[in-house]
Amino acid sequence: MTKYISRLLPAIILAILTAAPLAIPQQRKAQPPKSVRLYVFDCGSLNIPDITPYQLKKEELATTLMSVPCFLVAHPKGTLVWDTGAVPDSAFKPGGGPGTLRYATAPKPLTAQLAEIGYAPADITYLAFSHFHWDHIGNANAFAGSTWLVRKPERDIMFTEPFSPRTEPANYSALKNSKTTLIATDDHDVFGDGTVVLKATPGHSPAHQVLFLKLSKTGPVVISGDLYHYPEERKLKRIPTTEFNAEQTVASRAALEAFLKKSGAQLWIQHDYKANAKLKKSPQYYE
Ligand SMILES: [Zn+2]
Repeated sequence: MTKYISRLLPAIILAILTAAPLAIPQQRKAQPPKSVRLYVFDCGSLNIPDITPYQLKKEELATTLMSVPCFLVAHPKGTLVWDTGAVPDSAFKPGGGPGTLRYATAPKPLTAQLAEIGYAPADITYLAFSHFHWDHIGNANAFAGSTWLVRKPERDIMFTEPFSPRTEPANYSALKNSKTTLIATDDHDVFGDGTVVLKATPGHSPAHQVLFLKLSKTGPVVISGDLYHYPEERKLKRIPTTEFNAEQTVASRAALEAFLKKSGAQLWIQHDYKANAKLKKSPQYYE
């Protein structure tokens, strides 16, 4: 009997050792920062199969790839998650490795990236998307316990059948019962101090919006959603053929460009693969 156990012992020890990482508790819970912080997460990339809808030729583009960042804004009074990637965390296999959906690939689950800096979905006060397309709502359901900040025309298209083929309704279905703030003004000041503002920029979708941040060291920044996809769209003034309302897109772009001039804000184009690669990624942050 003793001999039997001693023969098994190495296997028992190995089992305990390999199980040990699972028992490591989550990082220490994050505390509210003294000033606004912006964390950028790598939620993967899109290998665009057909660029013709962007009215751009391959030789006009630095790359046809698009980046997919996700963002956390940590404010002294609460937190906001802005866009939740394309690939839901449930699409990742337990052994590790990238997750995929349609033509998107992501290196790591979003909730795991949040946990690394001490945030659980339950710590997220507000959830907002630039718009409802599949590559922005991947992990929406994880934040169904947050207050959803959305405009009525955008929420309506998300829950009206037949569903748009440009999204994945299953990935946001839990938001139907979320505590929801229906934004009725062009600007929505999330924390009431002008540092985190959702700005209406309709056209790409019925009620597309961008995120304006006033950061103490970085300065003002606008995070674009899909007001532009490729940076060349901005330079060459090209409008995709697949906009919900192209005229609105033209007007929204003009208004935002005027705002950038007036405010001195930088524009971060979320899908700009090369610019996104240069951004500091979580656990580093902008402040
Ligand atoms: Zn997109």
